[in-house]
Amino acid sequence: MSSPKAKGSRRNRRRSPRKGRTFRHIPIDELMRRLGPLYGPAQTPRPYDPTSELIFTVLSQHTSDINSYRAFATLRETFPTWEDVLDADVDRLAESIRTGGLARIKAPRLQEILKAIWTRNGSWDLSFLREMPLPEAKTWLLELPGVGPKTAGCVLLFSLGRPAMVVDTHVHRVARRLNLIGAKASADEAHDILEEKIPPEEILGAHVYLIRHGREVCKALRPLCGECILEDECPSSLIAGKSKRGPKATV
Ligand code: SF4
Repeated sequence: MSSPKAKGSRRNRRRSPRKGRTFRHIPIDELMRRLGPLYGPAQTPRPYDPTSELIFTVLSQHTSDINSYRAFATLRETFPTWEDVLDADVDRLAESIRTGGLARIKAPRLQEILKAIWTRNGSWDLSFLREMPLPEAKTWLLELPGVGPKTAGCVLLFSLGRPAMVVDTHVHRVARRLNLIGAKASADEAHDILEEKIPPEEILGAHVYLIRHGREVCKALRPLCGECILEDECPSSLIAGKSKRGPKATV
């Protein structure tokens, strides 16, 4: 019987950074089979409706989860409806989201997005995106002011259950190290690349597992390759000597 590595297609094989070794990227089903038991059932992070998810995601840019949730909570307490946010004095609005950081940039951005939603949709209800073909739904969201692939992906995947990949800094780093995307692929480009490779029913799990793996094992500066369940399939593994801690990574 052939080994799992022998089953890889030629297209998926690349020279390893380690001289003399040839790597394909790990098959997605194998990736999920290994990471699933480690990280448990994948769940969406929030039960928000699509507009709330969109606004939350804007607030979450360049800040921690805890600060994002605080900013979203104070926003909703201060301005209970989206009309209230849209009509708010921008300084008051910025004050209400101050804990999320970059409030003077995010406050007018929220109003621009809400204005565009109302102008284009005549409603705050974005549930129609659930029925739209995925590329069209993505385009609809990407045409909103300041909305990029990650924000659009959060709305589609978390709130609407669509198979849209969400690539944050952890997903991007781990996907590059595992050769799932090219070394030069940007995070924005990685959304489409990973969506093509990962079966729709596995998108949420892959997103959750790659984030967890990036936070807990495949860390930015010092990946713990010696403790990594993917080590034998990873072209970026940097195990050195007897140390369980890998040397400083470059990608
Ligand atoms: S072997 Fe190292 S570089 Fe590769 S995925 Fe695991 S921790 Fe990351």
